[in-house]
Amino acid sequence: IKANFSIVQDEEGNFSGLITVISDVTEQEKVDRERREFVSNVSHELRTPLTTMRSYLEALTDGGALQDEELAPQFLQVTQNETERMIRLVNDLLQLSKMDHKESAILKEKIDIIPVLHHILDRFEMNKTELIDFERYIPNERIFVWVDQDKITQVTDNILSNAIKYSPEGGKITFQAVKEKNRLRISISDQGLGIAREKLEKIFERFYRVDKARSRELGGTGLGLAISKEIIDVHHGQIWATSKEGQGTTINFTLPLMNRKRGSKK
Ligand code: ADP
Repeated sequence: IKANFSIVQDEEGNFSGLITVISDVTEQEKVDRERREFVSNVSHELRTPLTTMRSYLEALTDGGALQDEELAPQFLQVTQNETERMIRLVNDLLQLSKMDHKESAILKEKIDIIPVLHHILDRFEMNKTELIDFERYIPNERIFVWVDQDKITQVTDNILSNAIKYSPEGGKITFQAVKEKNRLRISISDQGLGIAREKLEKIFERFYRVDKARSRELGGTGLGLAISKEIIDVHHGQIWATSKEGQGTTINFTLPLMNRKRGSKK
């Protein structure tokens, strides 16, 4: 709360009154502070790959690494990886910005989500390179939800990629879909390093990473879960994390079920 006092005087300069303006600036200040932090984060995130690229390009040109048959391809690979990271980052930022301005087209339709989930998991099992086991528990029935299929696929992809990224070799990833009262809950568990209790909510914030270096090494942008949260919000669902440090993490999200009888949203 901010209070502004103005003294009112008459023509002769005598005190004739007091105007008090009381305004709630805390919300506005918070928004301003978050915006400044965001701009500062984006700048850092872009500067890191750019400075890396500059040193490698300098080594190639001035340092003469270009003539070195072994080093040249390695150095070019680094600049290529950094470019890819910046493209991912800018794409993520654009998506967030569109969602902030309610511009992003969310095309919701009534779908049976079960085959969609199987399809996503099949794709992950097919493409996996790491030694990882997938286990799936998905009800054998039709479950209708009112969603943008591409966006929900994106959320599921994000969570599954994280589960793989943070899993130990030979770890098991459990995918569970559970029909609850009015909603479908999807839970994806891994056997990775886990997340400390006080950080469980933070991981859905933009650019928050438990381990910055590790996330960078794994090619992360720090925006995946923030985007996922925005998507789940527009679907009127919830998203949260539970974890036992050293034992693993579970990311859960829910989607409201459709009332099958009347075909309306419940
Ligand atoms: P990133 O691109 O860094 O993976 P995300 O927004 O997807 O960004 O996740 C934010 C952070 O949350 C990660 O950097 C990581 O510290 C933490 N995190 C997400 N998923 C897991 C997981 N399954 N196990 C452990 N930590 C996780």
